Amino acid sequence: MKELSASAQAVRASTTIAIDSLYKKMKAEGYDVIGFGAGEPDFNTPDHIKEAGINAIRSNQTRYTPAAGTERLRAAVCKRLEQDCGLFYEPSQIVAASGAKHNVFAALMALLNPGDEVILPAPYWVSYYEMIRMAGGVPVVVNAPEAEEFKLSPAAMEAAVTSKTKAIILNNPSNPTGMLYDRAALTAIGEICLKHDLYVIADEIYYSLIYDGNSFVSFPSLSPELKEHTILINGVSKTYAMTGWRVGYAAANPRIARVMANYLSHSTSAPSTISQAAAAAALEGPQDSIEEMRRQFEARRDYMMERISKIRGVSCIKPQGAFYAMMNIEPLLGRVISGTLMEDADSFASAFLEKGLVAVVPCTGFGAPHHIRWSYATSMENIKEGMDRLERFLLG
Ligand code: PMP
Ligand code: GLU
Repeated sequence: MKELSASAQAVRASTTIAIDSLYKKMKAEGYDVIGFGAGEPDFNTPDHIKEAGINAIRSNQTRYTPAAGTERLRAAVCKRLEQDCGLFYEPSQIVAASGAKHNVFAALMALLNPGDEVILPAPYWVSYYEMIRMAGGVPVVVNAPEAEEFKLSPAAMEAAVTSKTKAIILNNPSNPTGMLYDRAALTAIGEICLKHDLYVIADEIYYSLIYDGNSFVSFPSLSPELKEHTILINGVSKTYAMTGWRVGYAAANPRIARVMANYLSHSTSAPSTISQAAAAAALEGPQDSIEEMRRQFEARRDYMMERISKIRGVSCIKPQGAFYAMMNIEPLLGRVISGTLMEDADSFASAFLEKGLVAVVPCTGFGAPHHIRWSYATSMENIKEGMDRLERFLLG
């Protein structure tokens, strides 16, 4: 048989999805395993949103829609962006897709020619790296060290810009670090983008999960020029506990929005109508469930930070948003724990799952080989047990 596509074969499977699948398989086989892998809220989709999906079926909203999504959904997105972020977009500038992940991919397909470089601050969400390559681009990883709170410094960014640089992906608050960029930091990055005429893929999917009373600044709200250069990515997965419904959206200047919609019209022909109706209801309806979830995430984060701070050999800087904590395991490297030599985050995560029965994500694929990502989108009870197991595992 003839060889498969070289670029497709170069794509590595998603670590986050792989860990989550392994955890779910072990659980189904009867293992008493606890999962901190998947980045998905453990809450259920609120009832009024579920009802909207059911009503969409009953009222026969079961036919094709425009590729960029229904008028209702795009108008609902505009209203929410205006209310929450002070952003003004027309519905024609909104492009819905089957999850924000697909929006990021469509954005990259709209921007990149073969060989175009995309600046990617590390640690980064595993899928960005692969998606840039899938779209024919070259990821240019720029390290954002833990000593600088995993935040990209303008100097490091500027040093990475070449004549081939087309864009930067900026995820705020960040998966996996949980860090939040403030207005001054965003402005400094924005200045470099304008100086070199770079596009910005601003992934703000965790914007509603901000802690310690901090406020969120949406990147395109910084200036009209930056708004022109930005493809804003967001979605309903995290904010409304709707990961399985698969609806994300992008907001961009009309030309980019049109190119993205054309691309989607030949690939998915819009997300499911049922999910679009549910997403519109989520964006239009009462927003109080968000604050309830946010408060619970904050309490879980606080508990986890307190426990980790008391465990020798590991450390963690306090996340400011999203629901991830990056635990540094560097002092453990080279040691034998529970019969396994700790070479990197991968060996730690495999042994912790096998011997400690806890699933965490090794950040090797996130550009941080000495860190483990915990998702605290799980119950306080699980977090307590997970921390107890970590203590026991490290003694082994
Ligand atoms: N961006 C980031 C940073 C994420 O963590 C996720 C989680 N999967 C997504 C985008 C995509 O979310 P979804 O496709 O479920 O909308
Ligand atoms: N974004 C989540 C995570 O990082 C969900 C899984 C995925 O889509 O990669 O775990």
